[in-house]
Amino acid sequence: MKYCNKCGKEIMDEAVICPHCGCSQQPNAPQVVDSSSFGWSLLGFCIPIVGLILFLVWKDTTPLKAKSAGMGALVSVIVGVVFYIIYAIIIGVTIGSSL
Ligand SMILES: [Zn+2]
Repeated sequence: MKYCNKCGKEIMDEAVICPHCGCSQQPNAPQVVDSSSFGWSLLGFCIPIVGLILFLVWKDTTPLKAKSAGMGALVSVIVGVVFYIIYAIIIGVTIGSSL
């Protein structure tokens, strides 16, 4: 008997996939590289819709990478809204003072 790499439950020695959690049991299986990256944040910041799509696509497989892209998109939207408000205030003040 051996134990599942992921959930730790007892599984058959020849089992390729854990019957409990579905996790692959091949020790040499390539690991999905998941790390937060400033590059993805920057991409999400520049193109928020792409950041959002990447976030939705990656959130299950590579949550850290998904978070990077998602955060970039979120910051971009927040900055956009803040600039819009500041712009609206400036326009409002300009019109108000010119009257
Ligand atoms: Zn398992």
